[in-house]
Amino acid sequence: MDFEFSEDQMAFAAEVEDFLDARPDPDVFDPTRENMAQVVDTPARRAFMRELGRRGWLGLTWPAEYGGDDGEGVYEYILNEALAERGGPQIGKGVGIIGKTLIAHGSDKLKAEFLPKILDNEVEFAIGYSEPEAGSDAAAMRLRAERHTRSDGATGWLLNGQKTWTTSAHFAEWYWVGARTDPSTKHMGITLMLVPLDQEGITVRGIWTMGDERTNDVFFDDVFVSDDYVVGEVNHGFRYISQALDLERFTMFALSPIRRRLDLLTAYVRGAERDGEPLRDDPRIRSRLANLHAEAEAARGLGLKFVAESMKVEEAARRGAEGFQPPTVAASEYKLFATELSKRLADAAMDIAGPGSQLRVHTDEAPMRGRSESTYRYTVLDTIGGGSSEIQKNIIARRGLGLPKNF
Ligand SMILES: Cc1cc2nc3c(=O)[nH]c(=O)nc-3n(C[C@H](O)[C@H](O)[C@H](O)COP(=O)(O)OP(=O)(O)OC[C@H]3O[C@@H](n4cnc5c(N)ncnc54)[C@H](O)[C@@H]3O)c2cc1C
Repeated sequence: MDFEFSEDQMAFAAEVEDFLDARPDPDVFDPTRENMAQVVDTPARRAFMRELGRRGWLGLTWPAEYGGDDGEGVYEYILNEALAERGGPQIGKGVGIIGKTLIAHGSDKLKAEFLPKILDNEVEFAIGYSEPEAGSDAAAMRLRAERHTRSDGATGWLLNGQKTWTTSAHFAEWYWVGARTDPSTKHMGITLMLVPLDQEGITVRGIWTMGDERTNDVFFDDVFVSDDYVVGEVNHGFRYISQALDLERFTMFALSPIRRRLDLLTAYVRGAERDGEPLRDDPRIRSRLANLHAEAEAARGLGLKFVAESMKVEEAARRGAEGFQPPTVAASEYKLFATELSKRLADAAMDIAGPGSQLRVHTDEAPMRGRSESTYRYTVLDTIGGGSSEIQKNIIARRGLGLPKNF
């Protein structure tokens, strides 16, 4: 067992760091946006991602026949962690969730239309699974899709209903949506579709979260989706969604920003005093920091475990081997541990820095320039988005430990 990167991987990591060092653009990199820093929501961020595309770094793990590098998942992991560490946009959504699902299940038309655009970062997506009555139980989604023939003869589906918590819907071009195509059954009655967000009948309304960032309600009123924009088989969408969720739970919750915040807190403890006493001499603070550092190492181990398991699955898929399961449990273990650690770290920063830590982020006089306050609010969101901590525990209990379903 080896927890270190190979020479090639270290060389790639160094190349990425050099590339990022040469682009210290605050319009692209902003760690104070916490985990929402990953979204590609401004012209500067889009231009930066296009540059990554031109370097071939968006297709690191895609098959060569779709313009990728056929590389191992660990390279994507190294790149994403480096981007996340600086508060830069990341490559999870288009390349991972949408791209990899289209490669596995999409029609030739969808592959030809979307894959090149994803590799060049010419398109942004929003993901619509959650609804007011379908969050943790995503398979309960009800967005109604009924067969419809348009006046010009095009056949497809007419969508009516609502999605909620759709991040990116206010700037993305395409919506990756799960819709209820068979109301007589649950999991096998959902179909994945691609819908342009500027289409008539779609209304997007902002929801501002306690972490300052925006997500959205999206309403559908007789929105037509042609059969050409159905992903994979009708009624099989939930299977594709579940596979993509494994990826989301890992790639969208990077560890490097957590480590950065831990380093920030450690540096603060090294230098700060309270009532004339250096914080670094307080045994309770030293003990708490040491625990957090040990936990960050555990999170790193869980992340590498996921990377290793998913590389085995990818390798097996390349060989055409059957019977390999996606690393669902490893994804849940990582997501649960890393996002809860992030919250514990935010608690510790508030406790250790005292009342001044309540000052707003970017306040020069505040301890750590107010990062504790903003992370205290933001880190809660990560324990909900992508599936709450309770849901990750249920997955580990059922699928990892073989315990019975209890709900
Ligand atoms: C910042 C943010 C961004 C998001 N972006 C998107 C997005 O882009 N697209 C999208 O589709 N969704 C998105 N979501 C939605 C997210 O996936 C859901 O919020 C999440 O799955 C929880 O669903 P819910 O909010 O309906 O809570 P509920 O499912 O109503 O859960 C409420 C509480 O009950 C607990 N609970 C529920 N069921 C169980 C159970 N069986 N056992 C134990 N406890 C349970 C939950 O853990 C939670 O604490 C986002 C959420 C957030 C916070």
